[in-house]
Amino acid sequence: MSAKILDGKVMAAEIKASLREKITGHGIKPGLAVILVGEDQASKVYVGGKEKDALEVGYHSELYRLPADSSQDDVLKLVKELNARKEINGILVQLPLPEHLDEELITNAIDPLKDVDGFTYNSAGRLFTGSPGLVACTPKGCIEMIRSTGVDIKGLNAVVIGRSNIVGKPMAMLLLARHATVTICHSKTRDLAAITSKADIVVAAIGRAKFVTADMIKEGAIVIDVGMNRDVNGKLCGDVDFDAVREKASYITPVPGGVGLMTRAMLMSNTHEAYMLQNPGK
Ligand code: NAP
Repeated sequence: MSAKILDGKVMAAEIKASLREKITGHGIKPGLAVILVGEDQASKVYVGGKEKDALEVGYHSELYRLPADSSQDDVLKLVKELNARKEINGILVQLPLPEHLDEELITNAIDPLKDVDGFTYNSAGRLFTGSPGLVACTPKGCIEMIRSTGVDIKGLNAVVIGRSNIVGKPMAMLLLARHATVTICHSKTRDLAAITSKADIVVAAIGRAKFVTADMIKEGAIVIDVGMNRDVNGKLCGDVDFDAVREKASYITPVPGGVGLMTRAMLMSNTHEAYMLQNPGK
């Protein structure tokens, strides 16, 4: 079997086009504010992508570049100002922050209704308890990709490899909410391959190049690769050994061109959702 490729580029373009249509149709302009502190090169690239997407969809977009030596109070003051502004519906503080800043405190200062990254304790708690709220973009994008296969998740065995607060744990919660039987694996898991090879869905969020090999995958499984790594030749690759695993899986996401682009599209989707939460009835 050769897996069908879940094309993040195509899916993300469709989602952005549909959002653009929605906001034009309703004559609304959701606003997204992104705060970047310091000079981290990868963060600059991510923030650039977010700004580009926001403009493409037709949102109002504001980017705040703060110097690396900004104080905690400087950043908190800006977050509070943005919380209070009606035309800003989504606020994102690009992580990681410089070491002297308290990420937890700053992230949780964002109004939960504007928490488009879904990282506040409020949003995480809502996901955990099954209450409506804004969901972290990467796991939300993964669920969209699984949903696009048309396969009913209910009752399937899903394995999430990785237990980070931003990917692994929320991913597991989303699968659980859709009635999968979920196993979360991590670096202390014993005999990982024995667990993954029984899974109908495998989500890999590890951060190790080509770690998930074909022998770890059941014939016909859906394989979602969150990882973003460099291989020995410096080429971007995922956590999954794509060429080998695609011969066994039924569906697979590529890297690049998979989850990363859907993560960006989900930020746009969350900004629209945040607008609707703040403007019910529009
Ligand atoms: P993270 O916080 O470093 O978490 C990695 C997880 O993998 C941990 O839970 C760790 O277990 C587990 N792990 C490490 N080695 C393992 C092993 N040998 N066997 C089983 N589990 C193992 O990383 P993250 O932030 O979740 O990100 C994971 C990957 O996704 C990275 O490559 C990152 O760049 C990528 N990512 C991509 C996107 C996107 O938009 N495409 C977004 C976010 C992240 P322990 O908890 O026991 O240490």
